[in-house]
Amino acid sequence: MAFTLPALPYATDALEPHIDKMTMEIHHGKHHQAYVTNLNKALEGKPEANNSIEDIIKNISKYPMAVRNNGGGHYNHSMFWTLLSPSGGGEPSGELGSAITSTFGSFADFKTKVNEAGATRFGSGWAWLIVTPDKKLAVCSTPNQDNPLMDIAEVKGTPIFGIDVWEHAYYLKYQNRRPDYLAAIWNVINWKHVAELYAKAV
Ligand code: MN
Repeated sequence: MAFTLPALPYATDALEPHIDKMTMEIHHGKHHQAYVTNLNKALEGKPEANNSIEDIIKNISKYPMAVRNNGGGHYNHSMFWTLLSPSGGGEPSGELGSAITSTFGSFADFKTKVNEAGATRFGSGWAWLIVTPDKKLAVCSTPNQDNPLMDIAEVKGTPIFGIDVWEHAYYLKYQNRRPDYLAAIWNVINWKHVAELYAKAV
């Protein structure tokens, strides 16, 4: 059972003007596809090829670097597409909204914290909102295609929201201006889905 590229849940131009069509086409169709192809190559003929991507990620220290990079890439991007929506933006309400306010002070403070985590991640990586093992919210970042679900992560937890800060996620439209990309992406965050992931993780 080979891993496959999940379809985008919206058209490639649906997140315009915040995230442009060509970026989405290349990011999903080329970069994510390459992670899937190279993950399958790295696991070819091995019994671990039948494991779920979640199981692989949670036990990533047992796998070679090609699986860490490409399996992480597949897991992270599969989640990332579902965190975005053309009808997204605004602020989360309900239990997630309350938890964000009580943890970070306000939604604005939370945004600042995530944007700082993304802007200060040197090179390529991700900024995350996680549910920690003691069921608290925390913001962190990881390098490359690592994520907080990996057993090697510095800060561990279940990711419920993440922002890709690789240059391939924003360079065509924003060039070197990562903070501009980080400011724009909040307009297309699918809080309804993040709230579902939160409910599952706590
Ligand atoms: Mn990416």
